Amino acid sequence: MNPAKLPGLLARVPELSRADLVALLSLEDPAECEALRAAAYDTASRSVGDTVRLRGLIEFSNRCDLDCLYCGIRRGNRAVDRYTLTREEIVDAALWCARAGYGSCVLQSGERRDGASAAFVESCVREIKERSRSAELPDGLGITLSCGEQSRETYGRWFAAGAHRYLLRIESSNPALFAAIHPPGQRFEPRLAALSALRGAGFQVGTGVMIGLPGQSVEDLADDLRFMKELDVDMIGMGPYLVHDDAPMRPLGMRERGPLAGLALRMIAAARLLMPDVNIAATTALEALLPDGRRAGILHGANVVMPNVTPLPVRGAYRLYEGKPGLRDDRAAFRDRVAREIESAGRLPGWNRWGDSPHAAKRI
Ligand code: SAH
Repeated sequence: MNPAKLPGLLARVPELSRADLVALLSLEDPAECEALRAAAYDTASRSVGDTVRLRGLIEFSNRCDLDCLYCGIRRGNRAVDRYTLTREEIVDAALWCARAGYGSCVLQSGERRDGASAAFVESCVREIKERSRSAELPDGLGITLSCGEQSRETYGRWFAAGAHRYLLRIESSNPALFAAIHPPGQRFEPRLAALSALRGAGFQVGTGVMIGLPGQSVEDLADDLRFMKELDVDMIGMGPYLVHDDAPMRPLGMRERGPLAGLALRMIAAARLLMPDVNIAATTALEALLPDGRRAGILHGANVVMPNVTPLPVRGAYRLYEGKPGLRDDRAAFRDRVAREIESAGRLPGWNRWGDSPHAAKRI
């Protein structure tokens, strides 16, 4: 890039055009990448502050009715040992999060649309809310759900039970690319409609994409960022696409690890510049790709981490891609390590708070 151009670009945020975003995402020169990183980190300091929000991640079931072509726990994968934690196990994991000071938890699973599964999630949310109230958390643990596309009615019931944030990735905002990575029955429009239903139900809404999908261009990624801004999301969770050996997309391969990590970090930084006051996660997939991925994400403007608190006996069975990290990490030791990582990135762990984004707070 012309050296005079980068400062000009960084001065235009958050009004970055599509061409500006493409230029930022395409940076290769180490000094320019570092200037982008520093600008994103400073923007985060000003717009979301210097605490990194903590959410204990509970992967409560790997049963799934869908067949996403990239995913290891897709219905068609017969090699997976399927599990669903009991309500007691889920509530125990959540109460552990409350005691550990995480302030919030995320309940994530495969996608099931039957009434019994919806009622099960609802009862878990209710019980976690009731039993996690304490002097530190007078309103109980903050609960984020990530259980896929559901009906308006189900979303309404889950919100009424006490969950208040929801993550549903669009995966790719390019309808043609979306179609290429899903079977014919899984369509783009209902996914969009679900995102709007979530907002209608009262949730703070998060979305995101996979970065480095086969056939995805840097223009697609720029459009993904503009899509998120247009949707006025409160949270962003995005990470590199990684292959799973039993998934149909395996033969298409994946990008080289080094350049893919760089691209994923530039996506985080560009998202921070474009949407200064939203929550942005340093995701597990980033950590799978880069040994120091969580910390690198924070240094590029991310302000949320989701330490895994799924019970160890099933953690390996919730495998979306190869190389999932932390399969043997005891959750208490992991807590201390994450806290140290956050501090070594110049931030503070946000103990005992829900940690909603300032963006959401402004709307409400
Ligand atoms: N079923 C839920 C959530 C579980 S999957 C839902 O549909 O929302 C959570 C996320 O993991 C997905 O949204 C997807 O973006 C990501 N994921 C799945 N397979 C992946 C892969 N092979 N590489 C990287 N991320 C993947």
